[in-house]
Amino acid sequence: MVHEWALAEALVEYLKNHMKSINGKYVEKLVVGLGKLQSIDREIFSFALTELLKQEGVVVNNIEFVDEDILFKCRRCGYTWRMNLDELDEWIKESIHFVPEAVHSFIKCPRCGSRDFEVVKGRGVRILEIVIK
Ligand SMILES: [Zn+2]
Repeated sequence: MVHEWALAEALVEYLKNHMKSINGKYVEKLVVGLGKLQSIDREIFSFALTELLKQEGVVVNNIEFVDEDILFKCRRCGYTWRMNLDELDEWIKESIHFVPEAVHSFIKCPRCGSRDFEVVKGRGVRILEIVIK
């Protein structure tokens, strides 16, 4: 899928600029959190990331991936809850993969029924740990 490539590209772009700004030589360790909300394919993402790093000449010695659970917080009543994406239909997961905001059309607060909630955790890709030499 194309989406994993776009996410990997954004991450590599960030790394490149970050390395430049602090004069880093290489990345010794990188831990990347993959939010479950967007059902990111780990194999495709990992492949894309490796390829793009090579293309951009960014050396990363160790890459680790960690799945990040989904956590929502209701803006109306303050309730927080976790969700297992497997409870949703395939087509809904597909929609959310490409447009995370779509989650608001399919899910509501289990306590007050509001669709006004935020995604506290589990969205997109983020760096959990980075060691630069
Ligand atoms: Zn609520």
